[in-house]
Amino acid sequence: MQKQTCPSCNSCGMPLEKPSDHALSDVTIHYCTYCTNEKGKLKPYHEVLAGMSGYLVQSQGIDQAAAETIAKEMMAAMPAWKNY
Ligand SMILES: [Zn+2]
Repeated sequence: MQKQTCPSCNSCGMPLEKPSDHALSDVTIHYCTYCTNEKGKLKPYHEVLAGMSGYLVQSQGIDQAAAETIAKEMMAAMPAWKNY
């Protein structure tokens, strides 16, 4: 288990360490800038999934299909997507 020392995005789990990590730099929004649109609303599931899997491909050097599988598992553990 990860130790909770700071709030994290309820959609992707990214730590929200600075106000600028929050959507619209609003610390009352518990989503990061990557999971939200320009109005601070949570993006649709498939857009967040595409963003996360793209990030995994780049950062981990894995292929797209593997990245999507991992991203789906990560998102399934997140409060924003637990009903998906
Ligand atoms: Zn996020």
